[in-house]
Amino acid sequence: METPGPPVTVTLRGETVLGKERLRRKCAVFRRAPDSKHRIGLLIFDAMTLHDKFGRQITDLRISVTDRCNFRCVYCRSADPENYRDHDEILSWSELDRLARIFLALGIRKVRITGGEPLVREGVEEYIARLHALGVEDLSMTTNGHLLAERCERLIQAGLRRINISLDSLDPSKFERITRTKSFKTVLNSIDAAQSSRLAPVKVNAVLVRGLNDDEVESFAEFARLRGVIMRFIEFMPLDADRHWNRGLVVPAAEVHARIHARWPLEQIPHEHSETARKYRFADGAPGEIGLIAPVTQPFCGHCSRIRLTADGKLRTCLFSKDDHDLRSLLREGASDDDLVTYIRSVVVDKEEGHRINEPGFAPPSRTMVFIGG
Ligand code: SAM
Repeated sequence: METPGPPVTVTLRGETVLGKERLRRKCAVFRRAPDSKHRIGLLIFDAMTLHDKFGRQITDLRISVTDRCNFRCVYCRSADPENYRDHDEILSWSELDRLARIFLALGIRKVRITGGEPLVREGVEEYIARLHALGVEDLSMTTNGHLLAERCERLIQAGLRRINISLDSLDPSKFERITRTKSFKTVLNSIDAAQSSRLAPVKVNAVLVRGLNDDEVESFAEFARLRGVIMRFIEFMPLDADRHWNRGLVVPAAEVHARIHARWPLEQIPHEHSETARKYRFADGAPGEIGLIAPVTQPFCGHCSRIRLTADGKLRTCLFSKDDHDLRSLLREGASDDDLVTYIRSVVVDKEEGHRINEPGFAPPSRTMVFIGG
């Protein structure tokens, strides 16, 4: 018999009300007050799913397997040495395995492996194989591509189905300035290797920063057309270690759309509500696709279905959460699976309504992107 979950508050028909989960009946009964006899709504859902108090179902989990990275991208990390967590502070593969089983039982269907740079941690292929065996429906990875070409086949054998590769410039010297590495050719080779594998079509991610690489919008679009990749433009978010972010450095997705559309007309492709990117194909039938990810100028929090697990075992319900929730201590203090389920559900219920970047008094989280997992 399942134990009842914690009380939840939900917004129903615009009204915030108190609700109580009754898991055996697989429904939530909403009342004006916890002890009220007056029922004002009923929501049927699978007992073992994750919902927040705004009625959003959580189906996507990003798992950061390391906080280490072999690049130092200027919009993410500092040039100064940062202190990585000690190895024993990072979840072991068996801890990550146990948490994955629990999250899958809670209705997570989409898992993205990220970091830091996921390919710098030995054993990532074996972990992907375990996730695949556990039945993850949609298994993907985000990488900077430095170590990908030689690992591509092993990752596919392990069960990886989709990949996102970061590429912030098509100009080798600018690439070097942004990433603080000389890996331009290596990354291009990785994109080619992935494109000629079962991982195609590859998603290529560029974070645009005004004055740094925003002159390359059209070149990136041409790159998409020539290589048949899905070129995705991500708005710069206030998650950089140097705290240089300001609104003037953000290149709005609408501007990117207008510039590409003026040169090669675009047609919108329907997308799932919870997808982060607005997707476009080229009207002239050229291969490739454009994706626009606009967390700053067109936030998509209302349909957010994501949570994140950091490499050191903290659960985060939003990229911009002020707090994170310590699963590592629970794991290491002997919590049972039921304890973990109860805790995870109680954390997810309180997922933030939105990220508040555009609200007065917004302050970025203390963790920067490399320590969260993008
Ligand atoms: N190392 C891998 C990579 O480079 O793709 C995975 C981790 S990286 C943190 C994940 C994604 O976050 C990348 O696409 C990266 O460009 C993006 N990212 C990092 N800092 C960002 C920021 N301040 N704003 C927007 N995106 C950012």
